[in-house]
Amino acid sequence: MENIKLDTSVQYVKGVGPKMYELLNKLGIYTIRDLIEYYPRTYEDRTKLKNVREFNKDENVLFIGTLIKPVTISYARKKKIVSTVVIDEEGNRAFLTWFNQIYIKDRLKEGNSYLFYGKVSFASPTRANVDSCSIYELSQLDKVQGLYPIYSLTAGITQNYLFKLVTSIIIDKGILLEDIFSNDFRRKYGLAEINYAVNNIHFPKDYNMIQTARNRIIFEELFLFQLALMKMKDIEMNTSKTNVYKDLDCSEFLKVIPFELTNAQKKVVEQIKEDLASEKIMNRLVQGDVGSGKTMVAAIAMYIAVKNGYQAALMAPTTILANQHYLELSKYFEKLNMKVEIITSSTTKKQKEKIVERLKNNDIDILIGTHSIIEDNIEFNNLGLVITDEQHRFGVKQRMKLSAKGNIVDTIVMTATPIPRSLAIILYGDLDLSVIDELPPGRKPVETFVVNDTYNQRVYNFLRKNIDQGRQAYVVCPLVEENEELDLNSVEKLYEEYKKEFSNYSVAILHGKMKNKEKDSIMQDFKDNKINILISTTVIEVGISVPNATVMVIENADRFGLAALHQLRGRVGRGSDASYCILKSNNRSAISRERLDTMRKSNDGFYIAKKDLELRGPGDFFGIRQSGMPEFKLANLLTDTKVLEKTQEAVKDILKNDKNLELEENRKIKETLLLKFGEQLGRIVG
Ligand code: ADP
Ligand code: MG
Repeated sequence: MENIKLDTSVQYVKGVGPKMYELLNKLGIYTIRDLIEYYPRTYEDRTKLKNVREFNKDENVLFIGTLIKPVTISYARKKKIVSTVVIDEEGNRAFLTWFNQIYIKDRLKEGNSYLFYGKVSFASPTRANVDSCSIYELSQLDKVQGLYPIYSLTAGITQNYLFKLVTSIIIDKGILLEDIFSNDFRRKYGLAEINYAVNNIHFPKDYNMIQTARNRIIFEELFLFQLALMKMKDIEMNTSKTNVYKDLDCSEFLKVIPFELTNAQKKVVEQIKEDLASEKIMNRLVQGDVGSGKTMVAAIAMYIAVKNGYQAALMAPTTILANQHYLELSKYFEKLNMKVEIITSSTTKKQKEKIVERLKNNDIDILIGTHSIIEDNIEFNNLGLVITDEQHRFGVKQRMKLSAKGNIVDTIVMTATPIPRSLAIILYGDLDLSVIDELPPGRKPVETFVVNDTYNQRVYNFLRKNIDQGRQAYVVCPLVEENEELDLNSVEKLYEEYKKEFSNYSVAILHGKMKNKEKDSIMQDFKDNKINILISTTVIEVGISVPNATVMVIENADRFGLAALHQLRGRVGRGSDASYCILKSNNRSAISRERLDTMRKSNDGFYIAKKDLELRGPGDFFGIRQSGMPEFKLANLLTDTKVLEKTQEAVKDILKNDKNLELEENRKIKETLLLKFGEQLGRIVG
């Protein structure tokens, strides 16, 4: 444990056993550096040290207490063990209780004083109760008092545990990051030193310090991002593509699909054809509202690529979605003698080996899968086109990986979430944008209702009526991001409720913790109408298409971003039957009502996104968080535009004097760039 470096594994830190190590990995923490860069999600105000007589009911309080007697243990209902501590401040007493935490008895000693932080559950002029306090030694006062960091957690890891871990590394051991920027550079752009920033983001004394710290860290993130982008554009510009497509006729394909393309689809297909025929590398973003038929546009592009002798890949964000694409598209491609395969996490090793072999031999034309299909050591014979479906982030890493692999291919990114054009230009410069601004004919808008709990029985009746007519329903439970365990609890509880209420129907549950195989088989049963009601977390949020499902109930709808609600609602209304979405919420705040009202009034994703932005700021603009690592820890491309512009300037400045980052003063920048954006970039930069 002596001699810890930034890339030392956290498993060598005291208090991190094999089990905790695994849990930390879940949060993306592997090394000491990851831990230091695991920034708080928000802060709790613990600036005031209070006296017992100042306690108010329901407030969180920080206080020092001396035990006037040993911890007492009693038993409450359901065999709950209650540990109680009494402290006395000149006659004002506070009773502190913990449930089922036996260790409290050994942890706290009569006559000793400790620092406590907890929620007041009862307060009178002479007496207060405080529940489940966090306990600290008095010596920790300096660290605990102030704005207390709140980290995103996963089941099995507590705030306190993370706090201690971070403290032990940053404060006790004094491990430092290396600043990638020189003094001059920092002065020029008004940036704090990195360790000052790190200290103040984890242990701030006031909000100003947080601001200074965030600004510094966000600058660095966006700076490296811009730098990577510029390097990537550099090679793309200097490579002319080999795949120029000659045969752009897709009439055969149009004959095998069961409908005619909408005018909007036709327009976008034409734009794609132009790109395919050109010598410039295609880099196109296709935006289209939920249900606008993006998949078909992707299919046509792949058809043309294959017809011209190239392979194509289609990547989806989830296994369920990849499977759905496979099921739908393989039907059409088989008729045209094109070979389609799928790789997901449920593909066995043996099957995968076979697919890899066939890919190399050009015996597979189209590969469908999750993002891993370009990341694993999968080699194509002649890859010409890569399509990413439902990409809410910018997919820069994937693009970079492809470029770095030497695969200068045409790419299409498809999304239902509008990205402002101005931002797209900052990010890509050369990005082309297509919009599918029309839904297939016959679609009826999803009729949307907003109700509270008093409507439960009516909602049940409504579901029954629809199911009896042969339709199916989704019931979606909100995501409690901090805690997977809670997620699971709430969805399972809901499942029990519905099973009871709908005992004569088939009710199933779907959530993120299930194995992929299980998830797929449930989805398949749902598609086959063997399940009437599917209780689910947001794993169904993107792309799933089951036309016979016409009712969606969303519990605690106010907890979702509007973009996410719109995506979810897009799971119904996919056929020609009338569809309904019931948004349940007991939140009566004006803003919450207005947001849900926006959903009730509009079915237009772009309008909803705009309204969402107005109502709650751009934080959740991209709505749905995707699985996998976020591209940034703190930066937000929409809110941090000012910093983004500054970094653009800074990057240009640096590259002007040192195009390949060879100067000693830029060494750390280069090293960090490689660290953050992968080894492959080495080929590009180095
Ligand atoms: P999204 O844009 O949300 O990905 P999909 O591609 O899943 O939408 O298409 C939604 C549904 O509409 C699918 O069932 C698809 O087969 C169907 N569809 C696509 N294009 C058309 C069209 N031109 N006419 C009728 N139905 C279409
Ligand atoms: Mg789709």
